Amino acid sequence: MNPLIFQISLPPMSLKQDNRFQAIIAHAKEYGFVFPSSEIYDGLSAVYDYGPYGSELKKNIKDYWWKSMTQMRENIVGIDAAIFMHPTTWKASGHVDNFSDPMIDNKDSKKRWRVDHLIESYANTLKEKGGEDEKKAEQLLATMDALLAKDDFVGLKNLIEDNKIKGPISGTTNWTDIRQFNLMFSTQLGSVAGDAETIYLRPETAQGIFVNFLNVQKTSRLKIPFGIAQIGKAFRNEIVARQFIFRMREFEQMEMQFFIRPGTQKEWYEYWKEERLKWHLSLGIPKESYRFHNHTKLAHYADAALDIEYDFPFGFKEVEGIHSRTDFDLSNHQKYSNKKLTYFDNEINQHYIPYVIETSIGLDRMFLLILSYSYDEEVINKEDGTKDSRVVLHIPEIIAPIKLAVLPLIKKDGLPEIARKLIDECKPYFRCFYEEKDTIGKRYRRQDAIGTPYCVTIDHQTKEDNTVTLRYRDTMVQERININAICEKLKERFII
Ligand code: ATP
Repeated sequence: MNPLIFQISLPPMSLKQDNRFQAIIAHAKEYGFVFPSSEIYDGLSAVYDYGPYGSELKKNIKDYWWKSMTQMRENIVGIDAAIFMHPTTWKASGHVDNFSDPMIDNKDSKKRWRVDHLIESYANTLKEKGGEDEKKAEQLLATMDALLAKDDFVGLKNLIEDNKIKGPISGTTNWTDIRQFNLMFSTQLGSVAGDAETIYLRPETAQGIFVNFLNVQKTSRLKIPFGIAQIGKAFRNEIVARQFIFRMREFEQMEMQFFIRPGTQKEWYEYWKEERLKWHLSLGIPKESYRFHNHTKLAHYADAALDIEYDFPFGFKEVEGIHSRTDFDLSNHQKYSNKKLTYFDNEINQHYIPYVIETSIGLDRMFLLILSYSYDEEVINKEDGTKDSRVVLHIPEIIAPIKLAVLPLIKKDGLPEIARKLIDECKPYFRCFYEEKDTIGKRYRRQDAIGTPYCVTIDHQTKEDNTVTLRYRDTMVQERININAICEKLKERFII
């Protein structure tokens, strides 16, 4: 990865967190990053579309992940599997029987809640009060974890009742019993009624990797340990879908399954935990904004699991999961398909079903992380003693949607032509933007708001001595530099 990226400045966390989150959502819409889906029909709950700058940013995050996981590693290759898979896949993976969350309904509001979310949100209100209540919250969460680990639904309901936890909408404690609710979307394959077969929209991309394990291993002639990476859509019928793009019903995952010798899973789990954190930090995001959260209740396939959590404006929450999936998936696919999925390890002369370490990051959550990290409202002390303000996205420059804005001071005297020539020189290497309307100050502000790291202004002096003003987004420092040096100076910085 480009080492220059570490030079970016860190945004001050000046805004109050709640307001900050609302401001980020509004900003994302106003500046063409994220729109509610089908907004003209009042939107669709927990489904979002990415606008012009949003889709650029999202693509850049994907590229940054893909390069670090595949191109930079000789033993990881990529695939692009279909969303639809044979229905037995989901039987074998355990999703038909186990991919469910304990839910509880409030009888008055008729709203359904995920039990852990309901208790966590109550614990957060206690934490905010501080003192004894804070300790009570910790105790409550520990009890909840223990009950979830045992699937003790009666115990969980008692916990909700004993703490008099109210429905967030009705404000009442009139609860149903707790039930499991499957999160997979189903649809019909086949056009003739009666012939139709129920299939699922994949709830994770991982299974496309498992069912292709031998195809990939053989065609790529890979030896264990090796990995298969994939970026793609996943679908979950989340009951409580909220917090903007944090929890969506249609989202994208960037997953990598690393196939290893049985018995080596602990080392590789530790390895990937550290590697993945390094990837986050390589974007210049401070370490204090991250923490690891070890799972106490393990998913049906895992022998160890942790979340990499980020300090979002609404608190520390999962952005990525590292899971030691054992040989659960491959063994089950072997069982359900009756096809041998073993690997011959010629170093130890043994056939075995490999163990797997998975790294799974939500692309949309990473996008939200970048917005949360980048967004800032700054007060600027001007040289003449007055104050000004700006909204700026300090997006790590390597993934910024637009890298360079080229701005002729006025629309005549040959300045636009010089600007266009510079854009023509740079655009094969990185995304540029041309703008000639409004004052330079206003144009700089608009670029700050979409996170453009560099602006170049062409003025009359350019015609005399070939120099332009290069303006830096984070520091707002401006320097005079030869126009012929711009492309060369910048292009190295943007190689993902
Ligand atoms: P959560 O506990 O938040 O529901 P999870 O533990 O079920 O997440 P995983 O199954 O481990 O999530 O999925 C891997 C990653 O996919 C998560 O770390 C997250 O970034 C992303 N992800 C999962 N569900 C969603 C969703 N509904 N919307 C957006 N991203 C998601």
